[in-house]
Amino acid sequence: MSENGASPDAGEAPASYNFLQEIVAADVAAGSHGGRVVTRFPPEPNGYLHIGHAKSIVLNFGLAAMSPHGHCNLRFDDTNPETEETEFVEAIEDDVRWLGYDWGDAEYYASDYFERLYAFAVALVEKGLAYVDSQSPEDIRENRGDFHRPGSDSPYRDRSVSENLDLLARMRAGDFDEGDCVLRARIDMAHPDVLMRDPLIYRIRKAPHHRTGTAWAIYPMYDFAHPLSDAIEGVTHSVCTLEFQNNRALYDWFVANCEPPAEPHQYEFARLDLSYTVLSKRKLQQLVAGGHVDGWDDPRMPTLAGLRRRGVPPAAIREFCETIGVAKRDNLVDVALLEHVVRDHLNADTPRMMAVLRPLRVVIENWDDGRVELLRCPLDPDDPDGAARDVPLSGVLYVERDDFAADPPKKWFRLAPGREVRFRYACLFTCTDVVTDPGTGEVVELRGTWDPESLGGAAPDGRRVRGTLHWVSAAHAVDAEVRLYDRLFTTADPGAADDFLAHLNPESLETIHAAKLEPALATTNAGERVQFERLGYFCADPDRDRLDRPVFNRTIGLRDTWAKIATKS
Ligand code: ATP
Ligand code: MG
Repeated sequence: MSENGASPDAGEAPASYNFLQEIVAADVAAGSHGGRVVTRFPPEPNGYLHIGHAKSIVLNFGLAAMSPHGHCNLRFDDTNPETEETEFVEAIEDDVRWLGYDWGDAEYYASDYFERLYAFAVALVEKGLAYVDSQSPEDIRENRGDFHRPGSDSPYRDRSVSENLDLLARMRAGDFDEGDCVLRARIDMAHPDVLMRDPLIYRIRKAPHHRTGTAWAIYPMYDFAHPLSDAIEGVTHSVCTLEFQNNRALYDWFVANCEPPAEPHQYEFARLDLSYTVLSKRKLQQLVAGGHVDGWDDPRMPTLAGLRRRGVPPAAIREFCETIGVAKRDNLVDVALLEHVVRDHLNADTPRMMAVLRPLRVVIENWDDGRVELLRCPLDPDDPDGAARDVPLSGVLYVERDDFAADPPKKWFRLAPGREVRFRYACLFTCTDVVTDPGTGEVVELRGTWDPESLGGAAPDGRRVRGTLHWVSAAHAVDAEVRLYDRLFTTADPGAADDFLAHLNPESLETIHAAKLEPALATTNAGERVQFERLGYFCADPDRDRLDRPVFNRTIGLRDTWAKIATKS
């Protein structure tokens, strides 16, 4: 990976460029902007980053890395005092760093430019290109017109420069109340593009700002602040999502008329939309505020904090973002593709150990009383001589309840009366007795015998034993809480629904309070990943400290639905 943590690596010709990489490559080749590429990732600190933001981060850092003098800035777009908080700034920094990107010293805040932005506004007023409008917000909206109807000029549109300068200064000084007046660009109220009909530049807000406190009573609008912040930073390629396509004319208008030190250009790409997921901060905020999830970092959330806690490796997110590509048309990406990439990454290097989620006791009747065998078991079954841990085997074990059938169907190779199975790395065992609760009829214990010649798990005479089960020694087992996650929504496109909350999956979280872990799992640290044999990939949760027992989140199961979808099509 390059200094910017991005790909493609400089000098290496990639198989195919996306359309933005083509633009940047051509600009670099032509020596435009002095051969420099400066991009920025511009989050508004009003929520946590989600996987859609990751697409933008991977793209922006990647484009910057195409030039040896490239750089990607982290710019907080903090022009909206009501919704922004320092908590979000810190979470965003953590998440970008975790994703693998380094913005160096280039951390900027739109609020650092408030004074310069104000000077640009004053200059527009002096040129007769901006005016203070004292219409009510309702009249401003009404007189803007719409797609079918041209707007009409404000009665305040022809105020003199000196009157406008005076009013603007008083807006800044806090002499007016919210809604009393706004500063507007003086463009054309009959412009075919509604956004160009004298757009707002400043509005009055009496809320304290998380960085500038009460220094300002007016705040700049996005369409004004964004291009000029880009220009102040010398951004060369300002990439944003498609919904800003119509704002580009305005972006260019402000750059042209404010005469900032540089001339950035805006390019638009399709935002990431993911099935069974919502990717709007407003909706994610609703999930948190409504208690539908356990905070921004709930492992069911598509936030980077949630994905991290779920156990998803950052490299998998980067690869996913590269895989989906960058296009100019919106489409819904199948979440199974993300799951596939995550599984692929976890499969490569996650140690395998044993845990039993729904324990059923098994008593080996011919096991010597008190005998304990320490079995040396590899963490990677494909590398039997590699790293290993000791797993104790004794005469009472736990196995998975699902691995027993009193009346097995055809092709059942697991536990059943009279059947022989292999306990992984341990021994061969034949079930001879099934103990049930006389009241409920529930199976409470299996009893049987082991083949003492089979210690280690191999059949002494090479006889065929098809079922291999995971297990944990009862006396050595560590109690744990295990959380099994499913998709948060039951419909493919919940974001498009009128009431997305109506599509929440009531079974998105199943908590298992008394899972049994092999003893080596007693001391894992938060964030450590492990494959529980036959069950899936899991990640240790920080709640361990609060609950005083290991807590594991299932990152993802072993079965790959994407592979199936891919072969079908
Ligand atoms: P939301 O719509 O979820 O509130 P936003 O666009 O308002 O997101 P910002 O903090 O302004 O959130 O986003 C920062 C950057 O991330 C912007 O450049 C934005 O275009 C980009 N971005 C946001 N959502 C996505 C997405 N789903 N796919 C790709 N890029 C995104
Ligand atoms: Mg935004």
